[in-house]
Amino acid sequence: MNAVVEARTNLLGLDRAALTEFVTALGEKPFRARQLLTWLYKRRVSDFAEMTDLAKSFRERLAAVAEVRLPEILSETVSHDGTRKWVLRAAAAGESATSPLQAIEMVFIPEPGRGTLCISSQVGCAMDCSFCSTGAQGFNRNLSTAEIVGQVWLANQRLGADDDGARAVTNVVLMGMGEPLANYKNVLPALSVLMDDLCFDLSRRRVTLSTSGLVPQMYRLAEDTNCALAVSLHAPNDALRDQLVPINRRHPIKELLEACWHYLDAQNGRSITFEYVMLDGINDRPEHAIELARLLRGREAKVNLIPFNPFPGNQYRRSSREAIARFCDLLHEHAITVTVRRTRGDDIDAACGQLAGQVEDRVTARLGSKSFGVVVQPGAVLP
Ligand code: SAH
Ligand code: SF4
Repeated sequence: MNAVVEARTNLLGLDRAALTEFVTALGEKPFRARQLLTWLYKRRVSDFAEMTDLAKSFRERLAAVAEVRLPEILSETVSHDGTRKWVLRAAAAGESATSPLQAIEMVFIPEPGRGTLCISSQVGCAMDCSFCSTGAQGFNRNLSTAEIVGQVWLANQRLGADDDGARAVTNVVLMGMGEPLANYKNVLPALSVLMDDLCFDLSRRRVTLSTSGLVPQMYRLAEDTNCALAVSLHAPNDALRDQLVPINRRHPIKELLEACWHYLDAQNGRSITFEYVMLDGINDRPEHAIELARLLRGREAKVNLIPFNPFPGNQYRRSSREAIARFCDLLHEHAITVTVRRTRGDDIDAACGQLAGQVEDRVTARLGSKSFGVVVQPGAVLP
């Protein structure tokens, strides 16, 4: 008779509260959770046998019922500008070797004095924004908390620390594949691990959740956490936004902005970043800039203009440099803080909205041919 093998609990999926519950259910004192977190996140040790301040019997029990499982690296690529992209196989428990590939993508953007990691929250996305390649791919599944936290763990492991022991990843943005607020249940504990001083210990300003505007979840978020918020606005009126970001038909701009200002009030936050993808001839005219300025005037808001990143099979074109500069100037003249996002890593398909995770037919095909990027084999020493 075959015994039923219970899946072991991936500890990367438990925030401090859940881990405390887990260890007490095993008959241990609550402070064991603190020790475990220190091993996992400060010392980056994943083998229970090495956790020498835990009793041997507890370590053996942990090895039987728990694990630390990371997403598997399918490929790692470095752009000529230093941006690094990983294609990962999500680490869901109990999946057989024959289950379809569950690829997600993660991108690291090094800049002087900081390193930003862009992580995914879902495999695919159901929101169907018309300019986004993840949206075009459709929705496959939610990532678990362990798969979200595992991305940050893995990036820190691969990138190592500098000579002073500082971590490479100083900022995390949930701007990869997926709509994080559509996976609220798993994203919330992941945020808690990112900001917990016993874990990654990132300050609330260094963790940014980007949403296309799921208004009810934005109100919940204001109750439950205090990370920075970015909102994918992309249009200054409902007629246009209805076309670009379909969730707008359910939660129009007025409602969305009320939720934004509520979030700031509730969290005593500094400001909200409004992302605005620049689409040639669609949303990039001077009258759009003026309409946008009217929406945001007098508010704690920043606009981040994102030059559209094209992908195969999409009808849009990137706005010209002149159109972007004019749009930026107009916002500036109307006293709106505005920045233009520099396109990074587009030679390796790592730019915003190019994260589609179709490993076999798109990414590797591209990497193998015309990319300037360097493909690093999983497990290889980094260049
Ligand atoms: N789903 C969330 C977070 C992931 S998308 C959201 O929509 O906010 C991260 C950012 O990339 C969003 O602002 C999104 O609108 C933008 N984006 C999507 N496709 C893009 C493309 N092709 N070019 C430029 N930016 C894009
Ligand atoms: Fe989903 Fe964001 Fe892409 Fe829209 S822009 S389809 S919400 S990932």
